[in-house]
Amino acid sequence: MMWARKVALLMKADSPKPSKPKHLGLDTLAVRGGERRQNGHDAVTVPIVCTATYGFSGTSEMRDHFEGRIAREEYGRYGNPTVRAAEAKVAALEGSETAALFDSGMSAITSTLWAMLKPGDHIVLTSDCYRRTRQFVKTVLARYGIESTFVDPSDYDAIDRAIVDGKTRLLLTESPTNPYLHVVDVVRLAEIAQRHRRVKLIIDSTLATPVNQRPLELGADLVIHSCTKYIAGHNDVLAGAVCGSEPLVQALRDFRGMVGGVLDPHAAYLLLRGAKTLGLRMQRHNQSALAIARFLERHPGVERVYYPGLESHPNHAVARSQMKGFGGMVSFLVQGDLDTCSRFIDACELPSIGPSMGGVETLIEQTALMSFYELTTEERLQLGIRDNLVRLSVGIEDTQDLIDDLEQALRRATQ
Ligand SMILES: *Cc1c(COP(=O)(O)O)cnc(C)c1O
Repeated sequence: MMWARKVALLMKADSPKPSKPKHLGLDTLAVRGGERRQNGHDAVTVPIVCTATYGFSGTSEMRDHFEGRIAREEYGRYGNPTVRAAEAKVAALEGSETAALFDSGMSAITSTLWAMLKPGDHIVLTSDCYRRTRQFVKTVLARYGIESTFVDPSDYDAIDRAIVDGKTRLLLTESPTNPYLHVVDVVRLAEIAQRHRRVKLIIDSTLATPVNQRPLELGADLVIHSCTKYIAGHNDVLAGAVCGSEPLVQALRDFRGMVGGVLDPHAAYLLLRGAKTLGLRMQRHNQSALAIARFLERHPGVERVYYPGLESHPNHAVARSQMKGFGGMVSFLVQGDLDTCSRFIDACELPSIGPSMGGVETLIEQTALMSFYELTTEERLQLGIRDNLVRLSVGIEDTQDLIDDLEQALRRATQ
């Protein structure tokens, strides 16, 4: 069937049911998921199959392949055994029927939106989505006649009203969001999407990970991850995943076969290896971030802390009902101005200063100078980004060492 026709049919179909919960525990799936006992080499780990193309024994095998009688690899853009193992592991972790990997989180997001939308369609997004996602929708998709509406993630009536029946195809949000760690009620969004039928709900669950949150079980149609962050978890590889039902994800694989964006087998290996410890790492990220958020909340040098695990966070109740842990990201306002905040960042000795998140190394950034550096203070304020805002991706170092370091840096910066 032609690719465009397949997508058209899929977009008309009712939302597929989430797959049955797996019986194995998440840590077992992290270690074993997607990996076979026999891989042809008696290797305990998944081999890196480093090839761009695959040979056939003869023309009859070629026929069998192209006529669908046998399943085998053909060319690197259509599949690779290492990448397939990594896809199966991510699907096992997310509890989805299947998953497709891409060469970055943005590649997963842009491919999904390209593949599922056509001119005249409309997409609703929450206003604090990842900056490049917003940029892609507002600049690239808009050029192709795909309209968008951005809505406050805490205003469910506005989200409902933004949906135009017969035109709106997708509802896309993150949870938690970044940098304020807003948690959206996925069950409520799924109800809204289902009430309008024909609207599919996509959750970018990067900050939550499958350990803390399972959007498919809450009614989402697709879950997207930047595996660059927690799933691979070591700040050493870029990768993106889309998890969902076989027909939807297969359409995305077909699309990927055209536009590229395939994960390299070496990157897939790093993802496989990193993902094995996801459960262990998330335990530490969750515990440490909560302890650090509590420490910061009591500290006189800190104006305000944003962490969904704190009772003071506006979405604490939703977070408690929908998440198993509250994640490793903590945002906070240092008491003072842009310069005080910069002094604090520079005085921190353990965290690396830089963008990204979700790895074993703690990372810190002054959001105004990092993601929003080209804007003025006034323009940043309009987006809700204060000059003294800090975003901390809590790694898996000893919690007390991190707290001690933050304490001495706050003392030095605010003296
Ligand atoms: C980092 C991130 C992305 C983009 O992922 P890359 O792997 O950097 O391309 C998308 N969404 C969220 C929520 C992210 O944090």
